[in-house]
Amino acid sequence: MATRKLASVLPSPQPHWVGDGFHVFPLFADLAFGQAVSPFLMLDYAAPHEFRPSAKPPGVGAHPHRGFETVTLVYDGEIEHRDSAGNNGTIGPGDVQWMTAGSGLLHEEFHSREQAKRGGKVSMAQLWVNLPASDKSAAPHYQTILKGDIPVVDLGGATLRVVAGAFGEAKGPARTFSPLHVWDVSATAGAVIDLPIATGDNVLVALFAGSVSVEGREIAQAGLLTFDTPGDMISLKVTRDAKLLVLTGTPLGEPIAHYGPFVMNTDAEIRAAIDDFRRGKMGNLDAFAS
Ligand code: MN
Repeated sequence: MATRKLASVLPSPQPHWVGDGFHVFPLFADLAFGQAVSPFLMLDYAAPHEFRPSAKPPGVGAHPHRGFETVTLVYDGEIEHRDSAGNNGTIGPGDVQWMTAGSGLLHEEFHSREQAKRGGKVSMAQLWVNLPASDKSAAPHYQTILKGDIPVVDLGGATLRVVAGAFGEAKGPARTFSPLHVWDVSATAGAVIDLPIATGDNVLVALFAGSVSVEGREIAQAGLLTFDTPGDMISLKVTRDAKLLVLTGTPLGEPIAHYGPFVMNTDAEIRAAIDDFRRGKMGNLDAFAS
């Protein structure tokens, strides 16, 4: 196997608040919404943060999405979601919510009411996955993936959870629209992690905690590693106990037009999305009692 060379090491970006519930590091930084990260779009990581008890759950209120998927991975605390397609649910540590916005929906994302009431640590990540042009108008859909549904692979000094795609014989539970893998990795200092990457696929390694070294370059939380395309594996040396999210997938090779919560292929489709949202065609949350 040929080891891929490191392409870039992106240091920790400035964090910002999403609503009042999620203090996130936008790890793709300037690469977000570009071809180099396709089929992924962006990754926000909310490092562990202590919240005071509150009667009003922190989070972000009703907002639309169209043309892609949002994938929420919870590490600490509980997140509650509901959307205009009639889906709602609460996920906790180790659980994942895979939401296909497709043709468009409105949703809200908050700490669960219980979580808000007792306060405490919340940590999560949200990944945006692009949809191929042919699936951008797919019906909105929601996959709740519980911790127990996610296969765990022992790599010796590291464990890898297969959220989507596969790793060896282990298949991830998420249904995806294009070939991609989402691997959630915990590793102890001293481990060397060799991961197979399909030829031609993009690969992104997000470091949520600890540190790893590649080609003698050390990266600490919360940073991102990218790799050159030639080669069919990557090799990471864990220098401090680490938590990583490894994303790999086949680039869609289609134009990307992005504006706020909409990701389409052309500017005309973006204008149509804004128009449809303003006309109320992406539904509403009024039917739900909160
Ligand atoms: Mn959202």
